[in-house]
Amino acid sequence: MASDVVYLDHAATTPMRPEALEAMLPFLTERFGNPSGSHGPARHARRAVDDARDVMAGALGCRPGEVVFTSGGTEADNAAITGTLACRPGAAAVAPAAEHHAVLAPVEAAGGRLVEVDATGRVDLDALAAALGPDVGIVSVMLANNEVGTITPLEEVAAVVAEAAPGAVLHTDAVQALPWLDVAVAAAPAGLVSVSAHKFGGPQGVGALVVRDGTDLAPLLRGGGQERDRRSGTHNVAGIVGMAAAAGVLQRERVAQVTRVGALRDRLADGLLAAVPDAVETGVTGAGPDRRHHKVAGSCHLCFDGVEAEALLFLLDTAGVCASAASSCASGAADPSHVLAAMGLDRERAGGSLRLSLGWTTTAADVDAALGAVPAAVARLREPSVGGRR
Ligand code: PLP
Repeated sequence: MASDVVYLDHAATTPMRPEALEAMLPFLTERFGNPSGSHGPARHARRAVDDARDVMAGALGCRPGEVVFTSGGTEADNAAITGTLACRPGAAAVAPAAEHHAVLAPVEAAGGRLVEVDATGRVDLDALAAALGPDVGIVSVMLANNEVGTITPLEEVAAVVAEAAPGAVLHTDAVQALPWLDVAVAAAPAGLVSVSAHKFGGPQGVGALVVRDGTDLAPLLRGGGQERDRRSGTHNVAGIVGMAAAAGVLQRERVAQVTRVGALRDRLADGLLAAVPDAVETGVTGAGPDRRHHKVAGSCHLCFDGVEAEALLFLLDTAGVCASAASSCASGAADPSHVLAAMGLDRERAGGSLRLSLGWTTTAADVDAALGAVPAAVARLREPSVGGRR
């Protein structure tokens, strides 16, 4: 990345760890074998995939045979929901309204039910209980929200599901959680767990779905029968190897990164609240020192009344600061975020949202630069002559 770019969009994608790139390179060159074959190069590739499976199983708290490699988080989420419902004809899917579209779209396509969230974006457990019943086949609740960073206590969700829909499978989208939480522990109550490599220092286009033993799942992709018939298609060997290398680094560094990045995030959020009149931090609880405890360490989300998010992103980009307004897929779209709407923010306030997401490469200098650029851009957009909304 150009050294003059202040990259604060790690929730969209985070730079690859050098260890991941190094691990991948041989599989893009001389170690090109197809792991499904039987000759030497194929066996070498298969061994690499098996080793990567062991590493991912360690990171995700499951057995190696429970890891199904996918093309990323979107495929893992779709496979979990569509694949579970295919095994249970007529069953319903239930998810909170603030899920990622990779969950919402298959739930809605199956005619499923969406459940309210609270002002922090966390699923309302009473509303969840009310939406459940014996007809429910799958409940999908994300571990950490991609826009506002709110963490779900999955144990509490699992208890509600066990009580009100005991036959249902619990799926969690842990795509945004893995860089910050011990997913092996936090996602333990779920039968299905989705992750994506490019959110934690691996390459784009590869991910995994944990399918715990005893969890029935029909394949989304049928063909050559790879991944024990759970996901056909030639393995992305280099991608899988890179993902495992990133997971290995993450396991060694995660705790220290959470402390380091969390302190940077607090300085950034507190600094912007102090520097920008009427700035509102989204999804926090009260004003006490623990008001961000339910958020992942890299997440800083604010709303600026009287400002259009798209114009703010443009000015920040011009100043060399990379940020986003909502999730990366929704960013730039005219519709305000469905997550903020579900959290009860009105259209006006949600229209002035800014997501700054920090990650493993974020430095104190990045935070300083954002603390200079964001207040200046907001002030400029609020000048009546520039077309501010107030
Ligand atoms: N789920 C969440 C919570 C995400 O943030 C994302 C990506 O932004 C996805 C799923 C989709 O993952 P991928 O980009 O690997 O398809």
